[in-house]
This record gives sequence, C-alpha cells and structure tokens, in this order.
Amino acid sequence: MRILLTNDDGYDAPGLAALAQACAHLGELTVVAPAKAQSAMSHAITLHRPLAVRGPLVTPGLPAHTFSVEGRPADCVKLALANLLPQRPDLVLSGINAGANIGVNVLYSGTTAAAREAAIQGIPAIALSLHLSKARQERWDVAVDYARWALDRLLTRPLTPGDLLNVNLPISDDGAEPTGFEFVPVCTTRTLDAYEPAAAPGAGPGAASAPDMPQSYAVRTGLSFAEPILGTDVEALMQRRITVTPMHWDPTDHPQLDTWRNHLNAY
Ligand code: MN
Repeated sequence: MRILLTNDDGYDAPGLAALAQACAHLGELTVVAPAKAQSAMSHAITLHRPLAVRGPLVTPGLPAHTFSVEGRPADCVKLALANLLPQRPDLVLSGINAGANIGVNVLYSGTTAAAREAAIQGIPAIALSLHLSKARQERWDVAVDYARWALDRLLTRPLTPGDLLNVNLPISDDGAEPTGFEFVPVCTTRTLDAYEPAAAPGAGPGAASAPDMPQSYAVRTGLSFAEPILGTDVEALMQRRITVTPMHWDPTDHPQLDTWRNHLNAY
C-alpha cells in the first residue's frame, strides 16, 4: 500500500514522526507536509505565489521520501497528487495533530482539511489528532501505540475512494489506556470563546494612545462547548474513547434542495 502522510503542524512536528512510526508497517510512505505550522488554516490554498518545495529531506523519524511545501495543508495534498508523487497513493493520512479535532473544530482544522482534500481527489483519507492534557506533556511514543491500534483495526474494512474518517486519540501522558472505539457524530454546538482586548502586534510604548491605532483582540478558544454534547465526539473523547467519525464534504443540503424544487415548481 502506498501512503501519503501530511499534517498541519509542519513537516518537523513530532506528531508527524509519530504517525510515520504508527503506519510504517502498512506500506510505502511518502511525506508531503507544510514547511511551517498551519494549524487552523482549514482548507485554504495558495493562489498568488508559487509553492516552494524542498526535498527529499533527511529528517529524523520520517521516511526517505519527505518533502516540505511553503503552503497550506490542502496545497500539500493537491501538489503531491498533481506533481510530486510518481503514483497515486492508496491512502492519505493526516496528523497526528497536536490537539483534538472534535466538534466544529473539524471545520477550522488544517489536519482534517488535508484529509478532506484527499477525499475530494478520490483517495481514502484518515485524519488523526491527539487530545492534549492541560500539562501538554505529549507522550508521542504512547500516541504511536494508540494510532497503530486504531489504524490496524480501521483498515480491516477496505476503504473506498472518497472515504473520509476523522479519528481522535485520547490523552496519552497519564498512563491511562483508551477504552476502545466510539463511532460518533461531530458535535455541532458552538465553542465557548472569549475575545479579550490585547496589545496590537508590534505596538510600542504609547502606541495604543495614537488615534489611528486599531484596538486588538486575542481569542481564547479550546474544547469548551455550549451544550449539548451528549452522544458526540466531544463526549466520547472526554471519556477516553478513540473517536471515529465518517465525514463527507458535500456542502449541499439535499432535503432542502428537494424542498426548494418542490416549492418553486408549484409556481
Ligand atoms: Mn495543528
């Protein structure tokens, strides 16, 4: 099996090396990943400048075929398929993200977007993310075991073109084991965010009093969700389950499409 690996934390992120380790036994790996961190860039692509590619790079923990791209996660997948890979991969894996991608965060995430791009391109894809504890002392070695356990089981069912799975691995730094899979829908509740006044980027002393100085705000966001979360990926991950959500990217509301057709066809 030929596997393309990517992520949104950058090609040198420990989570990508963890992913390579978790799936090395599954086949032939190629990495095409952003040169710099691209978290929360969602499905952005780069249109107004060329994409600089470096590689093959010799990077500890990564396969011989590793390339970095000065672009977004979706750029990496598109460019890999269009130019960099000699053959289409059988599978695209994105991650392991440093931080859970549950609830509406799947829309903001570059990790899930890279997998979504692969699905659009007709290649089965799995996004993997690790729930970090507040201490943020990531045990990537443990996360490797979780990811390998999950991938070995998920791949017993042949994936078909366009299949897209979002997988979250529970906190791995406190010695507790995951309690198994939970197949759950994405929580659609909004996140509870706070926007707090902050110093403007690059503002010097006294600059804030200048009349044309913008007021700046810094966001505090995370995994706090407005209720309800029951029966969703949020609840299951908090209960240390490995969450799996099959997703699709089709933005059309098909029932509403029929409703509108029927409505206007009556005139
Ligand atoms: Mn990230």
